[in-house]
Amino acid sequence: NTSLAEFDPEVAQAVAAELGRQRSTLEMIASENFTPVSVLQAQGSVLTNKYAEGYPGRRYYGGCEHVDVVERLAIARVKELFGAGFANVQPHSGAQANAAAMFALLKPGDTILGLSLAHGGHLTHGMKINFSGKLYNVVPYHVGDSDGVVDMAEVEALALEHRPKLIVAGWSAYPRQLDFAGFRRIADAVDAYLMVDMAHFAGLVAAGLHPSPVPHAHVVTTTTHKTLGGPRGGVILSNDADIAKKINSAVFPGQQGGPLEHVIAGKAVAFKHAASPEFADRQRRTLEGARILADRLAREDVAAVGVKVLTGGTDVHLVLVDLVDSELDGQQAEDRLHEVGITVNRNAVPNDPRPPMVTSGLRIGTPALATRGFGADDFAEVADIIANALLPTADLDGLRGRVEVLAAKFPLYSTL
Ligand code: PLP
Repeated sequence: NTSLAEFDPEVAQAVAAELGRQRSTLEMIASENFTPVSVLQAQGSVLTNKYAEGYPGRRYYGGCEHVDVVERLAIARVKELFGAGFANVQPHSGAQANAAAMFALLKPGDTILGLSLAHGGHLTHGMKINFSGKLYNVVPYHVGDSDGVVDMAEVEALALEHRPKLIVAGWSAYPRQLDFAGFRRIADAVDAYLMVDMAHFAGLVAAGLHPSPVPHAHVVTTTTHKTLGGPRGGVILSNDADIAKKINSAVFPGQQGGPLEHVIAGKAVAFKHAASPEFADRQRRTLEGARILADRLAREDVAAVGVKVLTGGTDVHLVLVDLVDSELDGQQAEDRLHEVGITVNRNAVPNDPRPPMVTSGLRIGTPALATRGFGADDFAEVADIIANALLPTADLDGLRGRVEVLAAKFPLYSTL
């Protein structure tokens, strides 16, 4: 029963250093967030010791009476949050949620339509060496060259030509909302399933600030750790009783063994948070911050050095910056922001002329800073810092000082 610090100072120090990094820098990776202490406590609990193969009330192990309570709470809360008739809260991650949903609905060799990775889709939507690309026949759809928006005419034409069994709508790097009803119409026309992967925008949906895919899709998958702000993990939702059965059996025993009940406890707590007015306000500030960021990055002096905002703005929690015409490539821009204390990730833009390890874009998100408490004025300040950092004349020391002031204004995990 020795503490971590006593037993393993090397790991303890790395954990402490990571806490220090999270506190002293500004986290703007669009897929990250700060989960509440109550979630950390649930996730760091003795539930990690328990095997619970099966589902609540139908386990293959004894002693599941308490983890059953936890898993039932998680299921009931996420169903309520998103208005879904069925939920499976066991997927260990978003990728596993997608794998299980596809496993439930498809046979190897079936055709799927997904947004191209290079245009903002996720690996699990059909990337060549991902399971999705290896198991299924993938037909990618794209965003339009001129507007950067998903080309629904192309989706329809590809669906009619290739008659997919499944259409995946969802994204990892896209600044606009998708037309779920339009996707469903196309899916129905070719007798395909529609799966929406709302991993990125689930928190906005929970707060009622983004259209919900749940009424339109046969299956909705999500992660729980992005805008939703919970522990790392996945969830699958559906309103179709037959599909629900197939999904349960695809997750267990199809894909996974014992569920991570400590993570499921964290999910239950996160779903309780997500139903609160404070959470809705946080999502409102997340959207407001992204809009402010898009506006400030469109400043004349920034545009003059070839920096553009893809699609000219945002409807969600992130902004995509196009550096195709800038002297700075994605890697250099990411490094420069890292130097001033802002963490973002470089990201390929559609038809990117630079290689994937370099890229010509940045993906910048506001969820973690909104969780930290940022309001409109703070987002305006961080947006100006980013805009200035991308100029050739940037005073990086001065900008780093301004980041430190913002970080100090919003203490993080002060009870840890
Ligand atoms: N789906 C989308 C749209 C994502 O952006 C991601 C992660 O970035 C995933 C699924 C996979 O989630 P995980 O990293 O938990 O496997």
